[in-house]
Amino acid sequence: MISISHLSKTYKNPDGSTLQVLKDVTCEIASGEVISIIGPSGTGKSTLLRALNLLDPPTGGSIIFDGEDILAKGYPIHRMRQKMGMVFQGFNLFEHMTVLENVIYAPCKIRKMSPEQARSEGMALLRKVGIAEKADASPASLSGGQKQRVAIARCLAMRPEVILFDEPTSALDPTMVGEVLSVIRQLAKEGMTMLIVTHEMKFARDVSTRVFYMQDGIIYEDGPAKQVFEAPRRSATKDFVQRIRKEVFEIDGPDFDFLDMGSRIQQFCLKYNIPEISNRAPVLCQMMMPAFLEIDKPLTVRITHSELFGDVFLDFMVEDLGESPLDAALRKEIAPLCKDVIEETTTRGFRVRLKME
Ligand code: ADP
Ligand code: MG
Repeated sequence: MISISHLSKTYKNPDGSTLQVLKDVTCEIASGEVISIIGPSGTGKSTLLRALNLLDPPTGGSIIFDGEDILAKGYPIHRMRQKMGMVFQGFNLFEHMTVLENVIYAPCKIRKMSPEQARSEGMALLRKVGIAEKADASPASLSGGQKQRVAIARCLAMRPEVILFDEPTSALDPTMVGEVLSVIRQLAKEGMTMLIVTHEMKFARDVSTRVFYMQDGIIYEDGPAKQVFEAPRRSATKDFVQRIRKEVFEIDGPDFDFLDMGSRIQQFCLKYNIPEISNRAPVLCQMMMPAFLEIDKPLTVRITHSELFGDVFLDFMVEDLGESPLDAALRKEIAPLCKDVIEETTTRGFRVRLKME
């Protein structure tokens, strides 16, 4: 359906210097594919989508869409715009129109659809994204998740062959991410061709047929979702997809500021959106501390969160220690607060690992 070869994009800065954002992007996209585009920020993901639908035309290379060279002189951009929809991070709804008017505006204006037919199709689309009851409301009265669902309905109203999503959930309150992803999931099931720039790793793994990992203006790795996430071929991809967030505390004795450690662990949990652990983790630390302080050796406490797998571990590590400092009473006390307790010797000493999630 889309064939991209040696695409490049260079921006000119006001001072005359240049910035090459897309270096050499080559890929084929078949009808029905759901492709997630992942990668660190600033690597050209948005630029690639904007180049594809000619919002920001590329400076080199070619794009063939449905057999037509869309970069050729004289190619009618409106033809491509009808076939390729785009959903933005910031919704971009028309604030002065109602929800339904937002959805039927383009079909009436550009597709010359009759108002009756546009309204009836528009209502069907609003029902599909679960927001028909707000048809006559103003976008200002909607939540972020509802606005994004309207933006998706508006995009579908043009009956596109392919939809580009640029971080559709990044501007949303975390509680509203799910409702938007479930609409996109439904479209994937129905066979819609989609390119989705996203930081939602679990979603990307579950919904995509293929994943592009972008870095430094190229598609650095391209493969089936399962392979890119579970067995990435290149080390940069691996570091990115298995990105593990952590916070480490080195404790050298009883004078350490344990209260500060408790609040930093709490902040960590809130920052990475694992609030259910934010109270339990500091409490567990407090319970564990006496047993470790008794050994009188430096202790490392570490909390890690893997976004992809959703794991949270609280680790207590002591070098040159051969046996667990936990006794039966303590084990019994902490068990109900953890999913699992793993006590093990490591190459450097001993580790007690509390699986929190
Ligand atoms: P991503 O979406 O992967 O985070 P972008 O495609 O938005 O990255 O941007 C890639 C790089 O291009 C960034 O360094 C950004 O500052 C630069 N860039 C994007 N748009 C413009 C522009 N209109 N003019 C100059 N530089 C730009
Ligand atoms: Mg971007």
